[in-house]
Amino acid sequence: MPNTSDQSNHNLVVVGSVAVDWVITPSAERKDSVGGAAVFFAMAAAPLAKVQLVGVVGHDFPQGSISDLEHAGVDLAGLERSDGLTFRWKGRYHENMNQRDTLETHLNVFEDFAPKLPQRYRESDFLFLANIQPSLQLAVLEQMDKRPRLVGLDTMNLWIDIARDELLRVLARVDVLAINQEEALQLTEEYNLVRAAAKIRELGPKTLVIKRGEYGALCFGPDGSMFCAPALPLDDVVDPTGAGDSFAGGFMGHLASTGDLSGDNVRRAVIWGSTMASCCVQDFSYDRLRGLTRDQVDARYRRFVDLTRF
Ligand code: AMP
Repeated sequence: MPNTSDQSNHNLVVVGSVAVDWVITPSAERKDSVGGAAVFFAMAAAPLAKVQLVGVVGHDFPQGSISDLEHAGVDLAGLERSDGLTFRWKGRYHENMNQRDTLETHLNVFEDFAPKLPQRYRESDFLFLANIQPSLQLAVLEQMDKRPRLVGLDTMNLWIDIARDELLRVLARVDVLAINQEEALQLTEEYNLVRAAAKIRELGPKTLVIKRGEYGALCFGPDGSMFCAPALPLDDVVDPTGAGDSFAGGFMGHLASTGDLSGDNVRRAVIWGSTMASCCVQDFSYDRLRGLTRDQVDARYRRFVDLTRF
């Protein structure tokens, strides 16, 4: 990752799923819960940076969520509206809320989606390829007018299983990979995280953020140095869906808002990621992220500073 800094507020493009989820937890259930990697990412990054979203929705996507994204300041010029049904995902959490089973995935409008970036998106300096088919991630990357200053990527077990070659192709072209612990091990066929990280850095991304759910995040910086951040211990985890995407939103949002890609600032970005993830899990969908003010997120960030000071 280039070690340069300029103090300006950069645009941050995100492509990823925009979804209607059905979430079942041990104590509650929400059908038609708006989600998707790009939605959680955008709602988490919006208090920090100017987000430009690329995705597709069907005729069943609620207008209220379009308004929520607009109110958060997210640029939706790259959100296509299609005739079919929105991407749908259904999952059930285990008693401990750390594990979940995917019960259903329907790509629907994502099956034929060919992203077309509005001209103003193509000049942006920061790009995040959130979880979606690797071929779509690649299509967005290729439409950028110039190589963005920072390209981040997330993926999941499904794409490691069924689209590994495309995933490796896009991975070779990114600076940061934000990935779950289990997926990092699956991708590299390793049992040890440190060895997995070394292998991933050989595949392309020099900065790696390994998300470990309630155990926080482990970051391997651009120079290979390790940084470990906790998750905020909470007594009111309602719905963990989107925690990883909110983490990525806080992380990338901080880097885009500061323009500082130094190793120290990457560490602060990890705490910003943890901050936004901790808000996300306190309610269903993006309900807790909606309407968050800069003061509120600053206060939550300071709780992390207190938590780790000794
Ligand atoms: P997370 O909890 O951060 O892993 O993200 C959960 C979100 O990922 C949900 O809102 C789902 O709609 C979305 N999702 C689930 N499966 C997929 C998939 N195969 N491709 C893209 N997004 C997905």
